[in-house]
Amino acid sequence: MNGRRALVLAAVLSLVSAVFAQKASKSRGGTHLPPGAFAAMEKIRPENIEQQTRFLAHDLLEGRGTGQRGGDLAAEYIATQFALYGLKPAGDGGTYMQKVPMVGITPGPDTHVSLVPANGQTLDLKPLDDYVAYDQTQQPESNIDAPIVYVGYGIEAPEYNWDDYKGVDVKGKVLLMLVNEPPSDDPKFFTGKALTYYGRWMYKYEQAARKGAVGALLIHRTDMASYGWDVVRNSNSGEKSYLTLDGSPKLKAAAWIHLDVARKLAASSGLDLEKMMKDAQSREFKPIPLPMRLSAHMTSKIRPFSSNNVIAVLPGADRNLKDEGVLYTAHYDHFGIRPEMSGDNIFNGAMDNATGCAIVLEIARVYAESAQKPRRSIYFSSVTAEEQGLLGSEYLGKHPPISAGKISLDLNYDDIMPLGAPEQVEVSGAERTTFYPAVQATAADFRFAIRPDARPEAGHYYRSDHFSLARVGIPAFSISEGIKFKGHDEAWGLAQLNDYTDHRYHQPSDEYKPGMDWTSDAAMARFGFALGFEAANQQQRVGWKKGDEFEKARLASE
Ligand SMILES: [Zn+2]
Repeated sequence: MNGRRALVLAAVLSLVSAVFAQKASKSRGGTHLPPGAFAAMEKIRPENIEQQTRFLAHDLLEGRGTGQRGGDLAAEYIATQFALYGLKPAGDGGTYMQKVPMVGITPGPDTHVSLVPANGQTLDLKPLDDYVAYDQTQQPESNIDAPIVYVGYGIEAPEYNWDDYKGVDVKGKVLLMLVNEPPSDDPKFFTGKALTYYGRWMYKYEQAARKGAVGALLIHRTDMASYGWDVVRNSNSGEKSYLTLDGSPKLKAAAWIHLDVARKLAASSGLDLEKMMKDAQSREFKPIPLPMRLSAHMTSKIRPFSSNNVIAVLPGADRNLKDEGVLYTAHYDHFGIRPEMSGDNIFNGAMDNATGCAIVLEIARVYAESAQKPRRSIYFSSVTAEEQGLLGSEYLGKHPPISAGKISLDLNYDDIMPLGAPEQVEVSGAERTTFYPAVQATAADFRFAIRPDARPEAGHYYRSDHFSLARVGIPAFSISEGIKFKGHDEAWGLAQLNDYTDHRYHQPSDEYKPGMDWTSDAAMARFGFALGFEAANQQQRVGWKKGDEFEKARLASE
């Protein structure tokens, strides 16, 4: 090596190390942020997130029940905070509130469901033990007397060259079907092990209704549903909430049946259930009309009510891009008060999801105070009725403050436990969007390892509010911490998570307690701020990767 080249190399090296030093000095993240935005992000304070959580989870908020006083109080409080920050209202008629009309449906005691074979004895089904069913048509009474057709998985997915219906007319019929999707390890076929929306019960009901069926009977098998009959039974007893009818087709009986009932049904049709299940795994599967009718008298108690999504906006700074937006979401509702319960009957929902609301509030505060405004507008929404089946976010997706095609990205927060300094982040679903390189780079800036979805086959992606936005085409995912925290190993993090799931999750004991370490919530807020700012400033809107199941909805919304 000659002297001159060595000198050049030394100069280059010092330049490189200077760049690295600069990067390291901003190692808390936000390397991609302009200085004004970086300064705003640094103002996110764990104490603020703690105090907001403490208030929202207070007994006085009565568990923030949907359609209850406590839930309405929480919505008013959040709207007031948005107003105090100087954000503009983006709800109905110049207010921060978007009214979400809903009905509560309780199956009546004189509901009667039976299976009637062409020859042989009628089988009367016992509610909760044998089946659960809701009348989605929101009528106090419906009658069904219709032939049953077995449609396998009940999936029509042209992108995977899969069609269980094969053009068979199922209008007026009751469809017997399997949950989940054809098993596969091939990532190109129903994304391999990971569950797609086609595998979810919601899709099965919707598709059956679109096909003109009057009822759907989902066969429950614990391994295929990824939860036991008890979960089906508990989440399908008593009153259930729905958005009021919006013209989309509905089923008179949206039902699950116990595996034993399915066996009997198959046997009295002269078929073998195991073989039927196996046959459904073939692309050549065709619907099988069974020599069996469903006879049902459905009665329901209908209770109309409403609740609100809260929506605020920080207008964008760029003349050409301010009509587009980036959205932050977190549900504020929880289970309210259960008067029939003895002892503590307030479901405070401190972790679930006062924490997420508090994080979005703190992000909103620093955006509003930021000297540097993002190019696109930033929407902040605290949604209702998540615990009732993602209803508030579903309504928001169907009635977005600007058209769905103009919303570049939704970042959602749900249930962020204060556990100290996180060394991981979970962003499941981000890898399906064109924004993923930015997510990876930002995670690296924050020195977060990206923790993959531990159980993609369970379909968690479809069980949180971001999914409501994804299904109208908006690239969307939730941000949460992983299980590795500074000073602890992963086993510790997992133990914290399990302790919460076993003892506090969806129980009155999910309460605020002083002395928790809110570093993690502030870190997740900063990370989400950095991501949102970058999405709001980059030239291109975010999209789904080619071939993704939500790409079609995205293209249709543009
Ligand atoms: Zn939640």
